[in-house]
Amino acid sequence: MHEHFYRLVPRYSRSPNGLVILYGAKHPAVLWYSTFEELETQLINITYRSYFERAGLGRSKDEMLVVLLREQVQHINVLWRLIRTQPGVELLGYCTSPLDVQLCDALDTFSAMEEATIDFTEYRYTRKMGFRDIGCTCFACLPDMEHLTWMWRCARIAHAYLPQRLFDRVFKELKDGVARG
Ligand SMILES: [Zn+2]
Repeated sequence: MHEHFYRLVPRYSRSPNGLVILYGAKHPAVLWYSTFEELETQLINITYRSYFERAGLGRSKDEMLVVLLREQVQHINVLWRLIRTQPGVELLGYCTSPLDVQLCDALDTFSAMEEATIDFTEYRYTRKMGFRDIGCTCFACLPDMEHLTWMWRCARIAHAYLPQRLFDRVFKELKDGVARG
Protein backbone atom coordinates (compact mmCIF):
# COMPACT_ATOMS: atom_id res chain seq x y z
CA MET A 1 0.00 0.00 0.00
CA HIS A 2 2.82 2.45 0.87
CA GLU A 3 5.71 0.55 -0.74
CA HIS A 4 6.56 3.61 -2.80
CA PHE A 5 6.85 5.83 0.30
CA TYR A 6 10.28 7.14 1.27
CA ARG A 7 11.20 5.75 4.67
CA LEU A 8 13.33 7.38 7.35
CA VAL A 9 12.70 5.49 10.59
CA PRO A 10 9.87 3.09 11.49
CA ARG A 11 7.81 6.01 12.84
CA TYR A 12 8.25 8.27 9.78
CA SER A 13 7.75 7.76 6.06
CA ARG A 14 6.28 10.02 3.42
CA SER A 15 4.87 9.96 -0.09
CA PRO A 16 7.36 10.90 -2.84
CA ASN A 17 5.51 14.17 -3.55
CA GLY A 18 5.49 15.03 0.16
CA LEU A 19 1.70 15.32 0.46
CA VAL A 20 1.25 12.52 3.00
CA ILE A 21 3.31 11.49 6.02
CA LEU A 22 2.83 8.30 8.01
CA TYR A 23 3.86 9.08 11.55
CA GLY A 24 4.05 6.60 14.42
CA ALA A 25 5.30 3.03 14.42
CA LYS A 26 2.88 0.15 13.83
CA HIS A 27 -0.34 2.20 13.89
CA PRO A 28 0.66 5.39 12.16
CA ALA A 29 -1.32 8.58 12.00
CA VAL A 30 -1.90 9.56 8.38
CA LEU A 31 -0.93 13.22 8.22
CA TRP A 32 -1.92 15.39 5.27
CA TYR A 33 -0.08 18.53 4.26
CA SER A 34 -3.41 20.38 3.93
CA THR A 35 -4.44 19.33 7.47
CA PHE A 36 -1.40 21.05 8.97
CA GLU A 37 -1.96 24.17 6.87
CA GLU A 38 -5.51 24.33 8.27
CA LEU A 39 -4.25 23.56 11.78
CA GLU A 40 -1.89 26.53 11.62
CA THR A 41 -4.77 28.86 10.72
CA GLN A 42 -6.96 27.31 13.42
CA LEU A 43 -4.31 27.79 16.12
CA ILE A 44 -3.59 31.37 15.02
CA ASN A 45 -7.32 32.12 15.37
CA ILE A 46 -7.53 30.43 18.77
CA THR A 47 -4.59 32.37 20.16
CA TYR A 48 -5.82 35.71 18.78
CA ARG A 49 -9.30 35.10 20.13
CA SER A 50 -8.16 34.20 23.62
CA TYR A 51 -5.75 37.17 23.64
CA PHE A 52 -8.57 39.61 22.89
CA GLU A 53 -11.00 37.92 25.28
CA ARG A 54 -8.52 38.52 28.06
CA ALA A 55 -7.88 42.05 26.78
CA GLY A 56 -4.17 41.38 26.75
CA LEU A 57 -4.11 40.72 30.51
CA GLY A 58 -1.44 38.04 30.30
CA ARG A 59 -1.94 34.41 29.50
CA SER A 60 -2.92 31.38 31.51
CA LYS A 61 -0.66 28.31 31.50
CA ASP A 62 -2.96 26.53 29.05
CA GLU A 63 -2.93 29.51 26.71
CA MET A 64 0.86 29.53 26.78
CA LEU A 65 0.85 25.86 25.83
CA VAL A 66 -1.49 26.56 22.92
CA VAL A 67 0.85 29.35 21.77
CA LEU A 68 3.78 26.92 21.95
CA LEU A 69 1.76 24.37 20.00
CA ARG A 70 1.03 26.99 17.34
CA GLU A 71 4.72 27.85 17.07
CA GLN A 72 5.58 24.17 16.71
CA VAL A 73 3.00 23.76 13.93
CA GLN A 74 4.44 26.78 12.15
CA HIS A 75 7.92 25.24 12.45
CA ILE A 76 6.56 21.96 11.04
CA ASN A 77 4.92 23.74 8.12
CA VAL A 78 8.07 25.65 7.19
CA LEU A 79 9.93 22.33 6.92
CA TRP A 80 7.03 20.60 5.20
CA ARG A 81 6.73 23.38 2.57
CA LEU A 82 10.44 23.01 1.82
CA ILE A 83 10.02 19.27 1.36
CA ARG A 84 7.08 19.93 -0.99
CA THR A 85 9.27 22.15 -3.16
CA GLN A 86 12.21 19.71 -3.22
CA PRO A 87 10.68 16.29 -2.64
CA GLY A 88 12.71 14.01 -4.88
CA VAL A 89 15.60 12.90 -2.68
CA GLU A 90 15.93 9.25 -1.75
CA LEU A 91 18.35 6.34 -1.79
CA LEU A 92 16.94 2.83 -2.32
CA GLY A 93 13.60 4.14 -1.06
CA TYR A 94 15.05 5.78 2.05
CA CYS A 95 14.95 9.53 2.79
CA THR A 96 18.28 11.26 2.29
CA SER A 97 17.14 14.83 2.89
CA PRO A 98 18.10 16.45 6.19
CA LEU A 99 14.69 18.15 5.98
CA ASP A 100 12.98 14.81 6.66
CA VAL A 101 15.14 14.27 9.74
CA GLN A 102 14.24 17.72 11.02
CA LEU A 103 10.57 17.23 10.25
CA CYS A 104 10.51 13.88 12.06
CA ASP A 105 12.15 15.55 15.07
CA ALA A 106 9.60 18.39 14.92
CA LEU A 107 6.71 15.90 14.77
CA ASP A 108 8.17 14.05 17.79
CA THR A 109 8.02 17.30 19.74
CA PHE A 110 4.53 18.10 18.45
CA SER A 111 3.32 14.63 19.43
CA ALA A 112 4.73 15.05 22.95
CA MET A 113 3.09 18.48 23.24
CA GLU A 114 -0.30 17.09 22.25
CA GLU A 115 0.16 14.46 24.95
CA ALA A 116 0.71 17.22 27.49
CA THR A 117 -2.10 17.87 29.89
CA ILE A 118 -3.90 20.63 28.07
CA ASP A 119 -7.68 20.72 28.30
CA PHE A 120 -8.20 21.20 24.60
CA THR A 121 -11.99 21.24 24.78
CA GLU A 122 -11.92 24.86 25.91
CA TYR A 123 -10.19 25.71 22.64
CA ARG A 124 -12.28 23.45 20.42
CA TYR A 125 -9.09 21.71 19.39
CA THR A 126 -8.98 18.08 18.37
CA ARG A 127 -5.76 16.11 18.42
CA LYS A 128 -4.09 15.34 15.14
CA MET A 129 -1.83 12.54 16.33
CA GLY A 130 -4.51 9.93 16.83
CA PHE A 131 -2.71 6.75 15.89
CA ARG A 132 -4.96 4.21 14.29
CA ASP A 133 -4.61 0.79 12.81
CA ILE A 134 -4.89 1.36 9.09
CA GLY A 135 -4.56 -2.40 8.68
CA CYS A 136 -1.54 -2.07 6.44
CA THR A 137 1.26 -4.63 6.61
CA CYS A 138 3.49 -3.17 3.88
CA PHE A 139 7.16 -2.73 4.74
CA ALA A 140 6.76 1.02 5.20
CA CYS A 141 4.23 0.39 7.97
CA LEU A 142 5.69 -2.85 9.36
CA PRO A 143 9.36 -3.13 8.36
CA ASP A 144 11.02 -6.48 9.04
CA MET A 145 14.57 -6.84 10.33
CA GLU A 146 16.07 -6.78 6.83
CA HIS A 147 14.35 -3.47 6.08
CA LEU A 148 15.35 -2.07 9.46
CA THR A 149 18.99 -2.99 8.81
CA TRP A 150 18.95 -1.25 5.43
CA MET A 151 17.18 1.73 6.96
CA TRP A 152 19.93 2.07 9.56
CA ARG A 153 22.70 1.66 6.93
CA CYS A 154 21.16 4.39 4.78
CA ALA A 155 20.71 6.66 7.80
CA ARG A 156 24.38 6.36 8.70
CA ILE A 157 25.44 7.16 5.13
CA ALA A 158 22.96 9.90 4.29
CA HIS A 159 22.73 11.70 7.64
CA ALA A 160 26.21 11.25 9.07
CA TYR A 161 26.96 14.98 8.86
CA LEU A 162 23.93 16.09 10.89
CA PRO A 163 24.40 17.50 14.39
CA GLN A 164 25.04 14.51 16.65
CA ARG A 165 22.25 15.35 19.08
CA LEU A 166 19.64 15.60 16.31
CA PHE A 167 20.90 12.34 14.78
CA ASP A 168 20.71 10.57 18.15
CA ARG A 169 17.20 11.84 18.91
CA VAL A 170 15.76 10.70 15.61
CA PHE A 171 17.70 7.46 15.01
CA LYS A 172 18.38 6.05 18.49
CA GLU A 173 15.27 3.87 18.49
CA LEU A 174 16.15 2.42 15.08
CA LYS A 175 19.78 1.87 16.09
CA ASP A 176 18.74 0.06 19.29
CA GLY A 177 16.15 -2.00 17.39
CA VAL A 178 18.77 -3.21 14.90
CA ALA A 179 21.30 -3.89 17.69
CA ARG A 180 18.74 -6.04 19.51
CA GLY A 181 18.20 -7.96 16.27
ZN1 LIG B 1 1.59 0.67 4.60
